[in-house]
Amino acid sequence: MGDEGVKNEAMEIMSLFQVLPRLVVFDLDYTLWPFYCECRSKREMPSLYPHAKGILYALKDKGANLAIASRSPTPDIANTFLDKLEIKPMFVAQEIFSSWTHKTEHFQRINRRTGIPYNEMLFFDDEDRNIEAVSKMGVTSILVRNGVNLGALRQGLTKFTQNLDSLERNKQRWKNFSRKSSSSERDQS
Ligand SMILES: [Mg+2]
Repeated sequence: MGDEGVKNEAMEIMSLFQVLPRLVVFDLDYTLWPFYCECRSKREMPSLYPHAKGILYALKDKGANLAIASRSPTPDIANTFLDKLEIKPMFVAQEIFSSWTHKTEHFQRINRRTGIPYNEMLFFDDEDRNIEAVSKMGVTSILVRNGVNLGALRQGLTKFTQNLDSLERNKQRWKNFSRKSSSSERDQS
């Protein structure tokens, strides 16, 4: 399936969901491309996972913002590759730096830069510890095993919708609870 075919399928998947994330954040190594860019030379021509480009284009078409969160120790190589792949202008934020935190610092910066709340973000990464740390911040986070693909996109949007629903339910519960407690306060007085 070419980029166009993947894009069309991704558009179809997205049309099944009422609410889409405002920002979709991608790791680079083993998420968008199948290698560690620190082990490669800037002179090489990199390639993405087969579904990556189609998915990026579809998200963009649907109005989602895109960003990168990478702990690569070689941001210069990563940037050269993003340039060569002609996808660099698609991202509203690119946080590429090595860090002892599991990307919480990357997401704080992305949040500051875009003003988009964590619960309106969706994140794809191939490392458990990043997924764990970032999902604790309230970001819907999906572990990918063979890079980002249509299956991961569908899984991500499903989980995003579930998280949104439970957030809504909790808000409702809290409203009911505070209404009840204020009326019982009235009863006592
Ligand atoms: Mg990675």
